[in-house]
Amino acid sequence: MQAETLAALAALGPLRVTPWRMLLVQGLRQLPDLPDVIRAAGDPIRRVEACSGAPACLQGLAPVRDLARRLAPQVPPGKRLHVSGCAKGCAHPGRADITLVATAAGFDLIRNGTAAAQPDLRGVPADVIDLKGLF
Ligand code: SF4
Repeated sequence: MQAETLAALAALGPLRVTPWRMLLVQGLRQLPDLPDVIRAAGDPIRRVEACSGAPACLQGLAPVRDLARRLAPQVPPGKRLHVSGCAKGCAHPGRADITLVATAAGFDLIRNGTAAAQPDLRGVPADVIDLKGLF
């Protein structure tokens, strides 16, 4: 979430962060349309984990957040996608159905493993990654 969106939410009422990493705007009955706010429990973006990646993290070998957003609609309900800026896997230390890990030569793809597991595919350019049929 961008700082501007958080500020807009804070202007609507007192904010609380829930233990489920959600925001509660106390007393608010109607949420205005704001960017980066996930409003529906079934939004596909909630099936994706992504770290900050490059350039926000110095360890990151590629940007990951736009890739995660682009691929989210391809993740079926009940499945998890993890997009990681490096093999440390900060956003999701456990296994995911599919994990994409940035490397110096593209993204490695791991099925049913962690970001540190042995890849099933190596060095796939971000712009050609398509997950249809892989879950
Ligand atoms: S997984 Fe790597 S790139 Fe992502 S936040 Fe952790 S150290 Fe940074």
